[in-house]
Amino acid sequence: MEKLLVMWYCSTRGGVQGWGFQEVLFSGYAPDGGMFMPETLPTLTPDTLRSWRSLSYPQLVISVCSVFIPTEVIPLADLEDLVNTALSGFSVPGAVSLAKLKQGLNVLELFHGKTMAFKDLAMTCTVHFLNYFLHKDSLRAIVVVGTSGDTGGSAIQSAKGLSGLDLVVVYPRGRITPVQEKQMTTCLEDNIHVFAADGSSDDVDVPIRRLFSDQELVKRHRLMSLNSVNWSRVMVQLAHFIYAYLHVSGLEEAEIAAPLPVLEIIVPTGGAGNIAAGCIVKQMGIPLCLVAMTNANDIVPRTVKSGDFSMATNVTQTLAPAIDIQDPYNMERVFWLLSGRDGGLVKRMMEEFQNLHRHTLPKALHKQLSQALTSGAVGDQEIVETMQRCWKENQYLLCPHTAVAVWHHYHCSPTAGVNRCCLATASPSKFQAAVQKAGLTLDLPEKVLALDKKQTRYVALDRSENWEKDWEGRLKQCIQAIGSARQHGLSYYEHE
Ligand SMILES: *Cc1c(COP(=O)(O)O)cnc(C)c1O
Repeated sequence: MEKLLVMWYCSTRGGVQGWGFQEVLFSGYAPDGGMFMPETLPTLTPDTLRSWRSLSYPQLVISVCSVFIPTEVIPLADLEDLVNTALSGFSVPGAVSLAKLKQGLNVLELFHGKTMAFKDLAMTCTVHFLNYFLHKDSLRAIVVVGTSGDTGGSAIQSAKGLSGLDLVVVYPRGRITPVQEKQMTTCLEDNIHVFAADGSSDDVDVPIRRLFSDQELVKRHRLMSLNSVNWSRVMVQLAHFIYAYLHVSGLEEAEIAAPLPVLEIIVPTGGAGNIAAGCIVKQMGIPLCLVAMTNANDIVPRTVKSGDFSMATNVTQTLAPAIDIQDPYNMERVFWLLSGRDGGLVKRMMEEFQNLHRHTLPKALHKQLSQALTSGAVGDQEIVETMQRCWKENQYLLCPHTAVAVWHHYHCSPTAGVNRCCLATASPSKFQAAVQKAGLTLDLPEKVLALDKKQTRYVALDRSENWEKDWEGRLKQCIQAIGSARQHGLSYYEHE
């Protein structure tokens, strides 16, 4: 790999350049409203890839992170400690595992963390990076997270009890599964503040965006985001794609002199953080075919097929609720990469999209996108059928999100000679209703059963005429209360 001497970050909207990893980690959106990306991407050579083949998943995460975090910012020994500690609490050795099933179906299980969703992997690493810097500089931060279900639980499990930060989580009440809800509301630690909002997960993002646009509030309380807006999460997720490539593409059997084999990776897609990571890995020289699959909330497939980047009027509730999303905000990173890093263009596009909730992609960009990605959408019926078929053929239970990806495998044949890998983003234990709908049964793990007996604590955000403003006000009040309590060395927690 060519060694980059410096690693700077810039905004996808062209207004910010030359930021370091630490500043980027502590920011949500860039000050110009864009998202952070590395100014340059190193190329991974075939030799580097071959030398990475023997690495465990945690070792691979360390190698990938060390490309994007200069050693002056986190020395390698510290980085190793942080990642190894973060990934130590997983229920399988090496944190991930690969299931090789019938009909050429490879499933990379990324759900062996505390909340049984793939988000645990990148979240826990990111929270450990954060805590490292806070501790080093004796500072505190307030993390604000909007969640479509899995992010909140993951953030809470990664951050609870940490002395350097408070976490404010807002989730769409009744739109997530009971297990997801309890993973959040049963956390009674004083640095965790949970809000249950009467709206969709996109509604939840509205007041949060408004909070982050208040630069004075952001600075004073060191507000930060842990949504996949945060570069650090996307960075750790690069490892999912590289790991899949190293173990499923057939790299090992390929002749040294032959061109690198191609791997097709199918990704259940919601906020598009994972697929953005895939696009970055592809630009780093790994030959991937990427497939972004969604449920009935099909804005990504429509954009890929016809350039129609427009939200439907409502979010459709499906059996795969973690991807019930109409605003796939990480597509901004993909647009930026594919437009040749044209910050001016991305700024115009995204501002129009944010104002009108629709945008037609420029012809050239649409062409790039349709070459870079394949995309499709499936309904609840297809999700159920896929779960049934996979069970019948393999006695292997899929979560409904993973089923969205596996549907593509069962119905669209890959290019001859190309291997395929589906990313499994959650454990079926979190999505019991979908399992029941499919007429299947599952044995619930002890930690899921235990949730029912626990005490809960959260604050409701009710729907009002002026909900956008009201919710923003309520959250701001909480943030200010936390800030002043901490100033006096006290803790503060929200209650009704
Ligand atoms: C978050 C999530 C996704 C979507 O990931 P994105 O990176 O937002 O596209 C898919 N499946 C599950 C189970 C999730 O929790």
